[in-house]
Amino acid sequence: AKTQGKGQIAVYNPTFDEGRLHRLAVEAQIGRGLSSGEFEVHYQPEVDAKTGEVVAVEALLRWPRRLEGPLPPDEFIEIAEATGQIHPLGMFVLERACRDIAPLGNLRLSVNVSPAQFRDAHFERQVAHVLEQTQFPPHRLQFEITEGYLLANPERVVRAVETFKSRGLSIALDDFGTGFTSIHYLRSYGFSHIKIDKSLLIGLSPGSKAAMLVSGAIMLACGLDMRVIAEGVETDEQADLLRKAGCHKLQGFLFGKPMPLDEFVAHLARSRRA
Ligand code: C2E
Ligand code: CA
Ligand code: CA
Ligand code: CA
Repeated sequence: AKTQGKGQIAVYNPTFDEGRLHRLAVEAQIGRGLSSGEFEVHYQPEVDAKTGEVVAVEALLRWPRRLEGPLPPDEFIEIAEATGQIHPLGMFVLERACRDIAPLGNLRLSVNVSPAQFRDAHFERQVAHVLEQTQFPPHRLQFEITEGYLLANPERVVRAVETFKSRGLSIALDDFGTGFTSIHYLRSYGFSHIKIDKSLLIGLSPGSKAAMLVSGAIMLACGLDMRVIAEGVETDEQADLLRKAGCHKLQGFLFGKPMPLDEFVAHLARSRRA
């Protein structure tokens, strides 16, 4: 407890210490989890908006064998970013996903990259190493980075995007619509895709404000020669509207949830037969 002026003692705040303890515990668990194989990568299909064919897949990290019980990725990734463990975790995802997806025809692979990884001086070399080890063709690989980082590090982002592009990879701007990227910035980055955040799809029906916003974003992206993916598509109505607005790829529970590799392979085979 802390003394607050004359004789006043601040009330002991258990949530603060519990939060810290939780983070410390999770930090140790992530280390254990990495060395004992508790993590897994799941795959969510991305379909061509016109044909419905599965053309790409997003790799999403899971922790199914955590001894203390399940924890959503948002939560443990934030901790891993704070502790630096995002570096080994991120490389685990990249390597596993490249190995898993390499044999699946011409399927493109999207991997989420944390700002800290993008900033890391070793990242480019490590990526090159994984591509070589797994024989994964660079032109089938895409990194997704979030808008927040863009605003904080414009020059660093431009350079990294250029380097990866020169190697054949492409970069997508993730969670588009949740930040405040200016049109000027968007134009100077060289992203090949923007990914419209699922929060923008809430209340998406013909004539709605959400529909105007989404079709505006799609027009803007197309005008800048970028392709557009919508994430979080759950209903046929949303899919129809996005298709008519010119969206190129759709991703969401309507087309498939993130799933383990074997399920994804079966899903892919069914969709290719259809
Ligand atoms: P994100 O990159 O924006 O990923 C999309 C999230 O939306 C995923 O949540 C996915 O399961 C969920 N989603 C997909 N379709 C639908 C839908 O139709 N409806 C709804 N309600 N949700 C849908 P998830 O897997 O829990 O991941 C949460 C976040 O954790 C991701 O957001 C990403 O920021 C982060 N993340 C996951 N895996 C990785 C990773 O390997 N590396 C990094 N750096 N971050 C990751
Ligand atoms: Ca993503
Ligand atoms: Ca998102
Ligand atoms: Ca996100």
